[in-house]
Amino acid sequence: MKYVVLLCDGMADYSLDELDGKTPLQFAHTPNMDYIAREGVSGQAVTIPPDMPPGSDVANLSILGYDPAKYYSGRGPLEAASMGVELGPDDIAFRCNIITEKDGIIEDYSAGHISTDEAGELIKVVDEHLGSNGVKFYPGISYRHLLVLSGGRGLDAQCTPPHDQVGQKVQDFLPGGQDSDLLIRLIMDSKPLLEGHEVNQARAKEGKNIGNMIWPWAQGRAVSMPTFRELYNISGAMISAVDLLKGLGVCAGLEVIDVPGATGYLDTNYKGKAEAALNALESDDFVYVHVEAADEASHIGDIDAKIKAIEDFDRKVARLILDGLAAFDDYKVLLMPDHRTPIPLRTHTHDPVPFAVLSSNGVGDEVTEYNEFSVEKGSLGIVKGHRIMNYLVNGVF
Ligand SMILES: [Zn+2]
Repeated sequence: MKYVVLLCDGMADYSLDELDGKTPLQFAHTPNMDYIAREGVSGQAVTIPPDMPPGSDVANLSILGYDPAKYYSGRGPLEAASMGVELGPDDIAFRCNIITEKDGIIEDYSAGHISTDEAGELIKVVDEHLGSNGVKFYPGISYRHLLVLSGGRGLDAQCTPPHDQVGQKVQDFLPGGQDSDLLIRLIMDSKPLLEGHEVNQARAKEGKNIGNMIWPWAQGRAVSMPTFRELYNISGAMISAVDLLKGLGVCAGLEVIDVPGATGYLDTNYKGKAEAALNALESDDFVYVHVEAADEASHIGDIDAKIKAIEDFDRKVARLILDGLAAFDDYKVLLMPDHRTPIPLRTHTHDPVPFAVLSSNGVGDEVTEYNEFSVEKGSLGIVKGHRIMNYLVNGVF
């Protein structure tokens, strides 16, 4: 039996006036995702427990079949795992964005989706000047980097995701609580260091947002969780461009496959991901295919870009994988987003998300298309996200 998870990050949404009351999923042309719902069974999943932050980390941990109440320890440690950064028992790992600050305002949570090379130079300077014994910065991908504090410092600090506070005052969202003074000093000292850097001078000349401030958040201790094989007794692979999912794959003991041209953005290599997934199924039983594009389109409030990301996912990922699975006798496909990222809100919510499961054994229900409303009639009802993997592999929630 082969298992595939088709994960289109943040594709679920609300009814939009701009789309005559339709959601982007309803509006988009998605014959292949509709096929999965029509020939399969569907329902709604609560991927994020009400008392937890509505992040991709919590949601994808759930979908991979881990109860987040038991295993969630922050986004930072997952990205550290992906970057191969070993965390000691008292190390606290923070996601560290490079942001654009302008006149005391959080202008852009991604410094204009700064390139990995440009950001790497900036993080290097920050580490050289602000790094010390117990304070270490590690370069990551685009605007996503890592800060590690030793001695348990900052674990209980209240930090804010920058993408939730675009347009707000920096002063109003600086870290609070335990060890916040250290974090605030690092944030404020990063600006004079970065402002005049040649990377930013070049970006400013090109009219691009500069990366002139660091912003740490989503911290935690090293992850300790059983492997996917220990939980579900099958081997597997993870395909994603973003460190968070790669880190989840590392912590779950999955093979993490890098796809050339996979950017974690609207211009990603959809086809390459689908082909890599089918290749992985030659040797593995399970593959998790994650595509970030629809979520990034939602965070910038771009409806057209979101619809294109959904249609690209349908045509270049779902179609190719459905065609490739015909080579296998027995297979199951789980289709879903990790959470909703409604365009009007430009951020994630706790709302349940639509999911559908297509099986080669032909089990189906009355649902004929895939979107947020059609699945309300799905035979699987509303389920906890972290129970779906057990249903997929063992047939019971
Ligand atoms: Zn997400």
